[in-house]
Amino acid sequence: MAHASSDALPALRSYLRTTAEIASCSSLLEWDLETYMPATGAEHRGRQLELLAGFVHDRATSGQLGELIEEAARTPEAQEEESPAAADLRETRREYDRQRKLPRRLVEELAKLTAEGRMAWVAAKRANDFGLFRPFLERIVALKREEAAAVGYEDHPYDALLGYYEPGETAAGLSKLFAPLRDRLADLVRRVVARSPAPLDDFLARGAPAAAQEAFSRKVAAEIGYDFAAGRLDLTAHPFCSTPGPSDSRLTTRWNEAAFLDGFYSVLHEAGHGIYEQGLPKEAWGTPCGQAASYGVHESQSRLWENFVGRSLPFWRRYAPLARECFPSAMRGVSVEALHASVNVVQPSFIRIEADEATYNLHIFLRFELELAMLSGDLAAADLPGAWNEAFRGMFDLTPPDDARGCLQDIHWSMGSVGYFPTYTLGNLYAAQLYAAARRELGDLDTRVARGEFAPLLQWLRERVHRHGKRYLPRRLVELATGEALDSSALLRHLEGRFSELYGI
Ligand code: ZN
Repeated sequence: MAHASSDALPALRSYLRTTAEIASCSSLLEWDLETYMPATGAEHRGRQLELLAGFVHDRATSGQLGELIEEAARTPEAQEEESPAAADLRETRREYDRQRKLPRRLVEELAKLTAEGRMAWVAAKRANDFGLFRPFLERIVALKREEAAAVGYEDHPYDALLGYYEPGETAAGLSKLFAPLRDRLADLVRRVVARSPAPLDDFLARGAPAAAQEAFSRKVAAEIGYDFAAGRLDLTAHPFCSTPGPSDSRLTTRWNEAAFLDGFYSVLHEAGHGIYEQGLPKEAWGTPCGQAASYGVHESQSRLWENFVGRSLPFWRRYAPLARECFPSAMRGVSVEALHASVNVVQPSFIRIEADEATYNLHIFLRFELELAMLSGDLAAADLPGAWNEAFRGMFDLTPPDDARGCLQDIHWSMGSVGYFPTYTLGNLYAAQLYAAARRELGDLDTRVARGEFAPLLQWLRERVHRHGKRYLPRRLVELATGEALDSSALLRHLEGRFSELYGI
């Protein structure tokens, strides 16, 4: 086999970087659209984004990129297993093949349908009328099946869609991973619910001025390691983290003046995303090795800081004094123990995004099973509300009072994001296993957290996770970081430990 010239890899990477530079302009324009753009700018902004999306799509599917990939694939570096070059090739080729296999007609039809579908979903949710969304959901599922067929799969059409969010995963692999968790968690929730009274959490509904919440949140985010010199915090309707460049990763949030810790927990979550972005290797920016490993790994970083650190007793030992300073009236008469118990109340509810750590994954399993059934054709979109409510009853012994609090609550399917939901639970699983390994290796992590010493944990995550970008597939990354294959035992130990202690079960 003839070896390619030695500049084949740099040429490929330089091409990818230029594409990423164009895409990063879109990301900045989108950030501006959500934060500061006057509403009157919407039409022009739409044209700008469409133009850039066209440039990115042309470059991502060009014959030139195909040639660069082939040339780079013949270099000796690319033959080395698990080398950065092999990873860049693996990821670039997967995305290139996927894009090339999708007929232009399908891409355009999906873009149009999901734009309309999103609006129909908003209207249906507001009117609490599934009928308004049903025809769109039917079309979206049909087109997603077409997409899966075009991309190709071995076992289940779901696999073709899942690979976009979580490379290497399959429906069968997830079902196997989730099954033991599903039963044990349902059992844990039943035991917790049977145990009354629940810890009191009414003081969480005490208010505080936005300025105080912002001061508290900024201080904590900076102490755990989010670098404000390379980031920002702004206000949006829905919190997110956006990264328009290698040294520019921004957070947004909203303040709820009627509940003093709401905004803080969303900042902590988004700061976890931002810290990950800030730890990706800058020299590899724009290439796969400079990008987050997957949606699930991204979510593991936000949840590690939000839940594993931020809802622990040592964390509140550290931050209760600051909370008392920032929120003197909301914190009046509230002990550290009461605060800790209150941010961990387990309460089965209809809404996923309001769910606690114990019930959250059950909401995901329900969606995962329904997505699988819709995609395989076993469940017609028209039958979704009934199937949803039946599954919900089976899980929580509760019946959603209406579809707005049932199958219409999430935006994902209206946007064509089928296969996305499992990444939330994968994030919890990765986070649990990473945090357990960090505890083993770093000695007394609780004492460090109680002292506000977060650097060792951050350094550990930088070393084991952040610096690798997409070099390894998610399961491999977690295995290398923790020394163990991914399974649900660490998450179960964490949840059963935390809630049996709090609830005395
Ligand atoms: Zn997140």
